[in-house]
Amino acid sequence: MTVLSMRKMYVLSGLLALLLPPLSHQEEHHKLLLVSFDGFRWDYVNRVPTPNFRAMMDEGVQVERVENTYITKTFPNHYTLVTGLHAESHGIVANEMYDPVLNRSFSMEGPEVYNSRWWEEAVPLWVTNQNSGQRSGAAMWPGSDVSIRGIYPTRYMPYNASVPFEMRVEKLINWFLGPEEINFGVLYWEEPDESGHNLGPESPLMDVVIEDIDVKLGFLRDKLKKAGLYDKINLIVTSDHGMTQLSHDKVIELDAYVSRDLYTWIDKSPVVGILPKEGKFDEVYNLLENANPNMVVYKREDIPDHFHYKHNVRIMPIIIEVKEGWTIVQNKTGSFMLGNHGYDNHLPSMHPVFVARGPSFRTGYTKASMRSVDLYPLMCSVLGIQPLPNNGSQMSVRDLLVETFTPGPVLPSVPEEPSYTWAVGPVLGSCLVLGFLIMFVKQVTQRQLPPLPLTNREISQPLLQDELRL
Ligand SMILES: [Zn+2]
Repeated sequence: MTVLSMRKMYVLSGLLALLLPPLSHQEEHHKLLLVSFDGFRWDYVNRVPTPNFRAMMDEGVQVERVENTYITKTFPNHYTLVTGLHAESHGIVANEMYDPVLNRSFSMEGPEVYNSRWWEEAVPLWVTNQNSGQRSGAAMWPGSDVSIRGIYPTRYMPYNASVPFEMRVEKLINWFLGPEEINFGVLYWEEPDESGHNLGPESPLMDVVIEDIDVKLGFLRDKLKKAGLYDKINLIVTSDHGMTQLSHDKVIELDAYVSRDLYTWIDKSPVVGILPKEGKFDEVYNLLENANPNMVVYKREDIPDHFHYKHNVRIMPIIIEVKEGWTIVQNKTGSFMLGNHGYDNHLPSMHPVFVARGPSFRTGYTKASMRSVDLYPLMCSVLGIQPLPNNGSQMSVRDLLVETFTPGPVLPSVPEEPSYTWAVGPVLGSCLVLGFLIMFVKQVTQRQLPPLPLTNREISQPLLQDELRL
């Protein structure tokens, strides 16, 4: 087909689109449930029988290598999954932070978790979903019981680690069923992270813990089936990070190199923020710079760009990162863990699992790699809502979706790839004309329209914090 005849097809198909009634939201998009098993390393599924993970891979997709965001800790990565932003841009840069502007300190277990200002450098997907006229539900996801931009999830559970997994699942399924049903849910479970820290990932005792997670996934699948949701819902199961084995022989004691009177220690091993006392920056940095071959000491401005971890005042002026398997403390008086995470996000041991299945996903498809920031635009696409500016790329993960899935308007330029057949043209043309028409009508009527499934707005460069302070 020539370009000219393709253009005619676009015009014809565009006119046809004007005559057709618009699809309702329910017809276009499906429900979505995002599940995180904290600290579930990507290769755990290979070390013991995990029939429920296997079933999801057969029924849907798996990604073998997910590059999460630096630092590979729980709070930064859970906020990345629901914002598509690296930590420097969403502002949750660590599990424990100090903000020199707010002059406040944040700890995962402390009351500052509920202070909105820590979270409001970004907007999580549940809020955007609600702002586009939908309803969200959250079971214990970090940050989901906090008012962010004045909004809580439509339904949520205040964080309580003692609430069993099964109760969290049953609550969520009830929210999906109605009476005012949610279309998007997030579910968090603390294991196998906790056991990974205590036992070490290489311990044979971890086998039982991993098997138990698979049983829990089985419980979730069964409940979805009994509720009649299994074939209607898109289910994504992933994690925030992996886990690596530690050793009592690999411990760095900072007291050996620099006096505590010279600095304040922020966060915990393996990436520690050092806030020098006033006028002591050079002295502290010079003492630390070459102090130990198993730790790397960065001035904030010298942190490598690929970490996307410097443009935020909550990142301390000096950062110490220790090598994989090493622990850094001030001295050895504290308790010692046998497993940890937080290291370089390019290390395979830090990478999480990723499987997904449902009406929007392909069947039996394995993808070699993705970045965790890409999940957010992918989820926006599945939900049919416009993503906010983010560091992810919907285009780089759209092969996870079924071929008939149309993630959003695509410019009808000359096809870039030979896979575009003649039949694609009319579809793209229809999307474009429909998109322009909706924008035009919106301009004219100034009334709220259903959300556009536009997902091809992509930003490959890191978003500076200043750009996000609105
Ligand atoms: Zn952990």
